Amino acid sequence: MYNKIWFFKSIMEQLEEAIIVADLDEKIVYINKSCEKMYGISSSSLIGKFLSDMLIVIDKDKEDLRKISQTIKDEKIYYGSHFSKRNNGEEFIVSIKIASLKDEEENKIGYVGTIQDVTLNMEFERTLKETTIELQEKNKELEQFAYITSHDLQEPLRIISNYSQLLHEKYQNTIDEETEKYFNYILDSANRMRILIKELLDFSRVGRKDAPFEKINIDKMLEDIEKDFILKIKETDAKIRIETSLPEIYGIRIRIKQLFHNLISNSLKYRGKDNPQIVIGCYDDDPFYTFYVKDNGIGIEEKYFDRIFGIFKRLYSREQYPGTGIGLALCQRIVETHGGKIWVDSEPGSGSIFYFTISKSINFT
Ligand code: ADP
Repeated sequence: MYNKIWFFKSIMEQLEEAIIVADLDEKIVYINKSCEKMYGISSSSLIGKFLSDMLIVIDKDKEDLRKISQTIKDEKIYYGSHFSKRNNGEEFIVSIKIASLKDEEENKIGYVGTIQDVTLNMEFERTLKETTIELQEKNKELEQFAYITSHDLQEPLRIISNYSQLLHEKYQNTIDEETEKYFNYILDSANRMRILIKELLDFSRVGRKDAPFEKINIDKMLEDIEKDFILKIKETDAKIRIETSLPEIYGIRIRIKQLFHNLISNSLKYRGKDNPQIVIGCYDDDPFYTFYVKDNGIGIEEKYFDRIFGIFKRLYSREQYPGTGIGLALCQRIVETHGGKIWVDSEPGSGSIFYFTISKSINFT
C-alpha cells in the first residue's frame, strides 16, 4: 500500500494554489511548490517560522493581519482578498482562505492556508470585457454601414433599371437579336441586384430591434403562413403537419413569421422525389422553447451544416434552385435577437430537421 503522507503531499505539489500548513503553535510545517513559485521563496526559509511571518509577506499593506489572526483564533474560516508582493517586488492580488486543520476526532491540530493568484483571472476578465465591447461597437458600425449602403444603392439602381427599360422599349422594334440579348442581361442583372440589395437591407434591419416584442400565437401564425404557400402546396401536393402543441411566445411578430416562412419555403423548395412532408413541433427546454421544422427533402451533407447559415452562402446554382442564400442567415439573426440559436441535422437523401430556440425570459425592453 502507498504511504498516506506521501500520497497527500504529492497531490499538494500538483495544485495550482499555494498551500501553507502550520501547527497548533502557528509554526509553518509545510508549503507546497506553487507557494514557493508564487512568492519566489524557498520552503526551507519558511519552515519553522510563524504563520504571521508569512502573513506579513502575503499582505503587502499589513492591514488585515489582526483581522486574520482574530478570525482563526475564533475558530472561524477566514476568507479575504489582499494585495501581495513577490520576492522580486512584483505586486499581485490574492484570494486567501485560512481554516483550522482537524484530525479524525475533530481535534484541532493546526492551520491550513490556501492562496490563489487572481490577478490573471481579473486581467483575463477585463480583456474579455473590453474585447466584447469593442466587438459590439464594430458590429454596430458594420450594421450601420450595411444599412446605409444598401439603402443608398437602391436609388442609382432604380435609375439604371428604369432607363434600360425605357431604352429597350424605345428601340424594341429596331434592335437585332444580339442587342436584345444584351438588354436582357442588363435587365436581369439589375433585377437580381435589386433583390440582393433588398435582402441585404432586410438583413441589416433585423438586428435593430425596430418593432416591439409581443405575445405571438404560433398556431395561428402557421395557419397564415400555410395560406401564403397555398399554390406551392397544391402544386407539389405537400403536407404540413403540426405534431405537438405549440406555445405562445414573446417575440417580434414579423420576424418570427419570416423565420417560419423561410424554413417552410426551403422545405418546399429543396424537396426530394416524394411529395413534401413537413412536420413542425416544439418542446419545452426551460429556459427556452425549442422548435423544429422537419422535411423529407434532398438533405444536406454534414460538412455544410454551419456554412449554410452564412450570408449569401448556397450549395447549388441559381439554375438548379432559385435563391440568394440569405434566408438562413436571416433566420439565424432573428433567432439571435430572440436570445436563441439555430442549427440543422440532416441526412442527404432523407431530409433535414432545422431546430431553433427562443428564450422564454430574454429582457425584451
Ligand atoms: P437560398 O435558399 O436562397 O439558397 P438559404 O439561406 O435559405 O438560401 O439556404 C442556404 C442553403 O442551404 C441553400 O442554398 C440550400 O443549399 C441549403 N438548404 C436550406 N434549407 C434546406 C433544406 N430544407 N433542405 C436542403 N437544403 C437546404
